[in-house]
Amino acid sequence: MTRWLPLLLLTAATTASADPRAPILSAARIKADVKTLSADDFHGRGPTQPGEAITLAFLEKRFAALGLRPAGDAGYRQTVPLLRWTRETARFDLSLGGKTEALRPGVEIAASSRIVGTTTLDRAGVVFVGYGVVEPRLGYDPYRGVDVRGKVVVALAGDPDVEAGRDLGFGGRASSPAARTKLAEAQKHGAAAFFQIHDTFPSSYPWLQLANSDAVPGYALDTGSVPPAFGIRGTLRNDIGVALLRQGGLDYAAAKRAAQRADFRGVALQGVALSADVRTSLDRAVSHNIVGILPGTDPAAGSILYGAHWDAYGENAFDPPADRIRNGAVDNGTGTATLLEIARAFAGAPRLRRSVVFALWTAEEKGLLGATWYADHPALPLATTAAQFNLDPHVVLGRTRDLELIGVGRTPLEQDLARVAAAQGLRIVPEENTEAGWACRASTSARGAIWCAGVPLRASGSGRATMPNAITRPATRSNRAGT
Ligand SMILES: [Zn+2]
Repeated sequence: MTRWLPLLLLTAATTASADPRAPILSAARIKADVKTLSADDFHGRGPTQPGEAITLAFLEKRFAALGLRPAGDAGYRQTVPLLRWTRETARFDLSLGGKTEALRPGVEIAASSRIVGTTTLDRAGVVFVGYGVVEPRLGYDPYRGVDVRGKVVVALAGDPDVEAGRDLGFGGRASSPAARTKLAEAQKHGAAAFFQIHDTFPSSYPWLQLANSDAVPGYALDTGSVPPAFGIRGTLRNDIGVALLRQGGLDYAAAKRAAQRADFRGVALQGVALSADVRTSLDRAVSHNIVGILPGTDPAAGSILYGAHWDAYGENAFDPPADRIRNGAVDNGTGTATLLEIARAFAGAPRLRRSVVFALWTAEEKGLLGATWYADHPALPLATTAAQFNLDPHVVLGRTRDLELIGVGRTPLEQDLARVAAAQGLRIVPEENTEAGWACRASTSARGAIWCAGVPLRASGSGRATMPNAITRPATRSNRAGT
């Protein structure tokens, strides 16, 4: 249960002149709140679903009991307007060598379209573009000399060197920013649809996770206009992708090796065609962040921000009835409960010089939407927000001695973290699964986009410094002695 202590003590250390007493946290209270938040009567805390009202009421009551100053547009609630795309129907037929079979959505294919109405593919040709990454600096352009207009583009997961075993210029095993532009490249070159072939290692999540979320509505912030939509996009189960390449005369492993080279060019897969009908509707929806402030003693001193997303995946009508509720105890019941406990500790301690903002985000699982909205509508100016601490989620492990730091080199707070960790006997170790791109996935602010573009952040107090998630690893055989 030491996982949250480094974060909290770091705060105490950085504000030591104003507050010599470190707040005391209670594991028992955190546990009780996790239990409450993940109970079935919270319906899995799905934004815009019945679980939202119940969750918000619980969180508001707790903020009020702590005496936090409401900092939303309606009490503690900060309205987050959303666009919601719902897939009404979907049909996919894959032809391999003249034989046509249906691909079952949520089983063999996970796909959607944000074009309102019906999007149709009628025996569209398929082009394999390797990793689908265009990087002129390194000479990579799989689209060179290949016509994908009106066709289906199929790409490998990851980037050219995530599995190559050496750094080809894309950051080695780390997931590169270039890999996040695949869809845009397919769109730019006039493709009608884009699919990635699922592969667990470079994707860093299993197929089932993706398949289970198929047909869950897609969301975006409603900023007054509907963004232009690409055609059908999605992911193919690995064996489907492998079969499709084989029909086109390509061996999956050999195709990967070929696509790791800068001279790789896209290949039109002979004898492969895809037909599809996807009907999508769009409506507007509203969700809410919960934001409260513990005012500091010096209004000119700025603030620090604690954030955690309250949302989970809610109820999923596509699962069998016995398993409809995805309770989200760990992700992110733990972070939400810990934020409540940190707020309780601060509220009971002498006031800091800086104000402390406590924010519980909505729609993190829909693409960091609540946090992004906050970054554009902050309760206190970002320019004087010295640090953000993100709680999402706590890895359920035993006692640890390693503290794994994600997104190394992006904030000067690392030096404080190293000092506090050392005082607790924790060892900071390099990020292990860099291909997972956690620094981008877990940054709860729009500033995360700056990280993901690979730009290091500089000064604290610039409003851009955010704290990377730190996760702890279980003590290994070699370091367990003495714990
Ligand atoms: Zn989470």
